[in-house]
Amino acid sequence: MLTKTKIYLSSPHMGGTEQNFVSDAFETNWIAPLGPNVNGFEDDLETYLGGDRYVAALSSGTASIHLALQLLDVTVGDEVLCQSFTFSASANPIIYQGATPVFIDSEIDTWNMSPELLEIAIKDRIEKYKKPKAIIAVHLYGMPYKVTEINAIANKYGIPVIEDSAEALGSKYFSKSCGALSDLGVLSFNGNKIITTSGGGALITKSQSLKDRAVFLSTQARDNAVHYEHSSIGFNYRLSNVLAGIGRGQMEVINDRVSARRSNYDFYKRELSRYNSIEFLNEPHGFYSNRWITCIKTDSYEKREHIRLALLKDDIESRPLWKPMHLQPVFKDCIHFVNGVSEELFEKGLCLPSGSNLSRNDLNRILDIIVKTPNL
Ligand SMILES: *Cc1c(COP(=O)(O)O)cnc(C)c1O
Repeated sequence: MLTKTKIYLSSPHMGGTEQNFVSDAFETNWIAPLGPNVNGFEDDLETYLGGDRYVAALSSGTASIHLALQLLDVTVGDEVLCQSFTFSASANPIIYQGATPVFIDSEIDTWNMSPELLEIAIKDRIEKYKKPKAIIAVHLYGMPYKVTEINAIANKYGIPVIEDSAEALGSKYFSKSCGALSDLGVLSFNGNKIITTSGGGALITKSQSLKDRAVFLSTQARDNAVHYEHSSIGFNYRLSNVLAGIGRGQMEVINDRVSARRSNYDFYKRELSRYNSIEFLNEPHGFYSNRWITCIKTDSYEKREHIRLALLKDDIESRPLWKPMHLQPVFKDCIHFVNGVSEELFEKGLCLPSGSNLSRNDLNRILDIIVKTPNL
């Protein structure tokens, strides 16, 4: 009997040279944090992002968001405006700082933060409480948010933007790299992201001094002294030299990974857009998505579930789109500014398998199941 293998939503995809960098770390005994792979990986990322940013390699994307909030002095009693349609790791660090998230819904062109609602929220919070301390906007599934509009509002009110680019390494906004479009940017190298170090992240800053501050805080905030002297609270958030070695190998193939993910999207779109009940998220003019995950929006919850369960039966993983933060039990008491967009996406949307290692056979196997859906 022919047994079919499981198809994952997004699985790690090694390029081949990662083990050489890891072996170097072993041979030179650079196993502990810091070392040549960390510097090399940061250099690779800085170059890739366009050369005008400074990158600190950290232990996760979540840690990077946490440090970004720390660098912006977000503290107890502050409010932070955060995109509601996202993964919980965008918002959790706000709570770590003792601050309060205020959630902002999405707009339909990019499924990301609505500039209109953002401004309404800022005016409301200034009038009723105080000026929010930061904005966390997310390039969800690799699609850039409306950067010009969001930055214009942020500048108008003097509020810094943290750009959650965890899903968007390789995406561009009018030829400029996502992650390098605002005050502070965040990347993730978790196992399911477009490249992985098995676990890791990065903070992207505009100046060497901010990077130095991030590195200082991420390595336990040790002051300059022979003994251990501390005048600030530190974190243990630096990426290890072994894992950075995996990252260096992955950076050699990042362009291939982006092309492969984009051709998955092209395949699904070509084969499925003739069906009336399936919609795709197109790139607005000047927006370039890494298509980390190909998402579809169906015309009902029932149809979405039909497709998801039919795929599951054949051992194919798919998943509803992110459940908005304002609907999450843990954030139910948070103030939110909504318009129904993310709730509808959560109800009717599905993430299709999107790994850069999917074969044409895999894609056809997925397609054959989806097209059997009644009344597609
Ligand atoms: C993955 C992800 C994070 C967190 O990154 P980790 O490296 O897993 O901590 C943050 N935000 C978004 C949008 C993500 O997808």
